[in-house]
Amino acid sequence: MQLYKNQELKIYNSLSGKKEVFKPINEGHIGMYVCGPTVYSNVHLGNVRTFMSFDMVFRYLKHLGYKVRYVRNITDAGHLESDADVGEDKISKKARLEQIEPMEVVQMYTVDFHNILNTLNFLPPSIEPTATGHIIEQIELIKSIIDNGFAYEVNGSVYFDVHKFNETNEYGKLSKRKLEDLIHNTRTLDGQSDKKNPQDFALWKKAEPVHIMRWPSPWGDGFPGWHLECTAMSTKYLGETFDIHGGGMDLKFPHHECEIAQNEAAIGKSPVNYWMHANMLELNGQRMAKSTGNTINPHELLSGNNDKMSKAYSPNVIRFFMAQSSYRSVLDLTDEGLKASEKGFLKLMEAMNTLSKLQASDNSNGLDINSWKQKCYDAMNDDFNSPVLIAELFNAVKYINQVKDGKAAINASDLELLTNTLHAFVFDVLGLKNSGSSGEDTTDKLSDTVEVLIKLRAEARANKDFALSDKIRDELAAIGIQLKDGKDGTTFSTN
Ligand SMILES: [Zn+2]
Repeated sequence: MQLYKNQELKIYNSLSGKKEVFKPINEGHIGMYVCGPTVYSNVHLGNVRTFMSFDMVFRYLKHLGYKVRYVRNITDAGHLESDADVGEDKISKKARLEQIEPMEVVQMYTVDFHNILNTLNFLPPSIEPTATGHIIEQIELIKSIIDNGFAYEVNGSVYFDVHKFNETNEYGKLSKRKLEDLIHNTRTLDGQSDKKNPQDFALWKKAEPVHIMRWPSPWGDGFPGWHLECTAMSTKYLGETFDIHGGGMDLKFPHHECEIAQNEAAIGKSPVNYWMHANMLELNGQRMAKSTGNTINPHELLSGNNDKMSKAYSPNVIRFFMAQSSYRSVLDLTDEGLKASEKGFLKLMEAMNTLSKLQASDNSNGLDINSWKQKCYDAMNDDFNSPVLIAELFNAVKYINQVKDGKAAINASDLELLTNTLHAFVFDVLGLKNSGSSGEDTTDKLSDTVEVLIKLRAEARANKDFALSDKIRDELAAIGIQLKDGKDGTTFSTN
């Protein structure tokens, strides 16, 4: 279904600094590139947030009926420790420290990255190319840039001539920086560089004899600069100009600025129509950093094995938590925030289960389903505003509970429309899951489990084992399940 024909999607374009009506280059088709991870350590939770934002973008574009080619690369060579082109290749360094092959480092952390993303129910990209798989394309690109007069070779390394480029093009247009300001703010690293100017960046770095990752090139053995792979792979798989390029806010400068410069210098075209940047993830109100200890990795968050959170959080709760903020806002990860999201998520799933059992009436009253449905689309059409979408989903939750309690009614066609729309947004677009591997509702399984515990508690009380019965009640309360004793027996609630 080509739903996009009836919806006007607007995307905040970092290049113009405005929300713009989205128009793909080829009707019905979208090319999207997102900078992937550098696989030298476990994936950072902040990066998970970025990739999750673009997973939601990918899911919504597909839901609208677009054919999306989504390319997300794996950086397995060329990412130096510093943006100033000094220091070691991150992967080589890790391999040297652990005395293993660089490709073992790459394999280990690529597997870890995929495991985490699978656990969190990410859709795989259409193509996941690697830097080392595209050395030939990168060398060809460097040759074009040199031929066009925007790069120079020194001692087996090749650098992009930012000053020369800026005479005819505009370096800094994405990050809103002026070359003059960059010149003032760059420290000159004496003797550490062959560059004509400190603002120049490496396209190819000469490999010193100890460097393991190396490839032959017209300039001698070496390895590509980090910025280059994205230009080579996006051009190869999406064309010289494509629709959407995404990444974390921290990549805007210098990485994305350099990508634009490389494309314009090699091909003479601006590579991207819509630049999208996902904002940062903080932990307890502060920037995450290993050096300060204010950090948590995805495994620790999922297992509860950490000193920052009171318990483990499920993949669904983490997804729901992240979707409750706009991708363009800074998101603060806190225990309270996750607990609130867990409640919200369970409430939403309870309503989804209630929905499947609702009886249709002859007439509807309580919520205009057609206009509610359009409000859901309006939220996502407004630059993928997932928190507003979730507020609309909770208007439906309220209505579902009113129908259940006999305070509102729904007819058969509205019930079908409500069900289909909720399923589309909750499961397809937000990527939440309500079913276990058997296909049964996990919420139902949870209910059954609590019922078992209620029975055990009743038995304990009948045996006057009050220590055990209190323990069952208190431990359930500690994980947010309240037992209520009434004259018809014990019931439970999760709120
Ligand atoms: Zn990139």
